[in-house]
Amino acid sequence: MAQNGKPRKRAVRVTVSGAGDAQALVAAAVASAAGTGALGWVRDDGDGLVRAHVEGEPAAVDAVVATLETGAGGRGFEIDRAKVEGHEQFAIRGVSAGRFVIAEHQASTHHYDLRLEVDGVMRSWAVPRGPSLDPAVKRLAVQVEDHSLDANVSERPPGPDGHGSIVWDQGPYEQGGRVRWPEALDRGHAVFVLHGAKLEGGFALQRTGRGAPPQWLLIKRRDDWARPGSDIVAERPESVLSGRTLADADAEAEAEAEAERDA
Ligand code: MN
Repeated sequence: MAQNGKPRKRAVRVTVSGAGDAQALVAAAVASAAGTGALGWVRDDGDGLVRAHVEGEPAAVDAVVATLETGAGGRGFEIDRAKVEGHEQFAIRGVSAGRFVIAEHQASTHHYDLRLEVDGVMRSWAVPRGPSLDPAVKRLAVQVEDHSLDANVSERPPGPDGHGSIVWDQGPYEQGGRVRWPEALDRGHAVFVLHGAKLEGGFALQRTGRGAPPQWLLIKRRDDWARPGSDIVAERPESVLSGRTLADADAEAEAEAEAERDA
């Protein structure tokens, strides 16, 4: 017993290999955690591999571990001590939370629109310099109003007003972190994993100012997909839908307009 009279919290990492029904094992771990108050996460990594981080009061942790061990059915089961990370939920990791999209947008200013699907809307930020895969680079992200789910499903060549946009990257994303979404966004620190054509791996959005509009920083997390020193928006300027850059689209639109005038 700790001095405050509560049992000391503990944390473990569990790996089950050769799980017969990984989905069922994930569901059983979630049910066990819900019943005991254990926190952390579980994920199905495919090929019968299920990994979990479990933390909380020892009896709660033991219950979830027992559930996972039963699911291992005498096949691979490994358990290691881990650090208590302060989770506030028991999450299923590795599942899509919806779509993310990053559009390159020429409006009154040139910027990138970052949108994440959350509860039926696209939460949106304007990122003047675009995302980076370099964890040392922090990019300003200005929160803008929510958009509809069909925002940036198509592209618009710059018209006579000079406005246009391309879909610079898109794909599914996973919600991560220790706090349940959308509360994580409300509290100003959200961690997520992108599975795009250009952007892969963990990112964080950290709110730095509550002014109007609220300012955030978009930061690549240090993981296998981090590329220190890289500049992905310069390296890969093209649309993932059409292969064209915003400048290509601009030139084409102008050529078309010229052809129409000549016709
Ligand atoms: Mn925009």
